[in-house]
Amino acid sequence: MAKKSAPASGYPAFLQELLEAKSPTGHEFAAQKVVDSYVESVADHYQRDALGNRIAILDGQRGPTLMFAGHIDEIGLQISHVDEKGFLYFEFLGGHDHVIPSGRRIHILTRNGPVLGITGKRAVHLLSPEDRKRVPERHDMWIDIGVNNRTEALGIVRIGDPAVYADGPEILRGTIGVARAFDDKAGAYVCMEAFRRLATDKRLVARVASVATTQEEIGTRGAQVAAQAINPHVSITVDVGHATDHPDADNRKFGRASLSGGPIISRGPNINPLVYDQLVEAAEALGIPYQIEAAPRPTGTDARAIQMAHAGVACGLVSIPLRYMHTPGEVVDLKVVEQCVQLLVEFACRVKKQQSYAW
Ligand SMILES: [Zn+2]
Repeated sequence: MAKKSAPASGYPAFLQELLEAKSPTGHEFAAQKVVDSYVESVADHYQRDALGNRIAILDGQRGPTLMFAGHIDEIGLQISHVDEKGFLYFEFLGGHDHVIPSGRRIHILTRNGPVLGITGKRAVHLLSPEDRKRVPERHDMWIDIGVNNRTEALGIVRIGDPAVYADGPEILRGTIGVARAFDDKAGAYVCMEAFRRLATDKRLVARVASVATTQEEIGTRGAQVAAQAINPHVSITVDVGHATDHPDADNRKFGRASLSGGPIISRGPNINPLVYDQLVEAAEALGIPYQIEAAPRPTGTDARAIQMAHAGVACGLVSIPLRYMHTPGEVVDLKVVEQCVQLLVEFACRVKKQQSYAW
């Protein structure tokens, strides 16, 4: 039995454990374990696949198949080179803003467990005036694990070991949480927590396949194969979206979404119009506030892959508003995370036996 840590006040224990799990893209082991421990026992069927996805299934009353998708991978680093002095160079796993990685505590996931490192670069005092204006390139930065040489370093880490920022979940104030990798542990939590509640909900007609997807950050790869395997009629992806209520988001360019304004429901070509309508009806029936996002292209989420599986899947996208995406200090309102769980439960229970999403 895994030792469960006490929840930081305000965090559901399941979400907190997902946030503490270090699961960079392609190395999702720790997050898989958390999902297994909370979901496997309540599922009618539970599948693991070659990409590391976790697929939990409820038979319901054998109505149409509804797929939930939330990704459990997170952005990270990967060790690519060790120099003679034992400094480690890295590649990026997923998309990074180059102003972020230096000066951070990180955990390298080695065969003997996490090893603390620090990302270094030349100090500001030693930069030329031109260099001070420049965003550092990847090779201008390295990881220092406090060793003397290459041999010593390679006794600890191997080429290919992944790493993540060391920052864990905390509460900023009230229900406002800060953590590394709310993107998309929060979405995976929403999908799997909704699934857990649906397991005892007598209203459920649809067959539900809830997926903790892998490798989203490098191109929605887990969702692509999961959707092929499940062949759903309808699907809801839950990911994070940009809250634009901070001082540097021009609403004319980025639209308007606030951190605490409720789930963001997307509209656009990636979204089936009937699914969008049903999500809105579910939110209104529950009295949950919601925000609408225009998504004029295939979205940067698992919904992009799921929509194109087999003969096409009716997709919806629910996003949790988030500030500072892809940094170690992502911020969300935990109240909205809970609203998203309720929205998915209500949506699922409204899928009827003869439901069609053709239009
Ligand atoms: Zn992301």
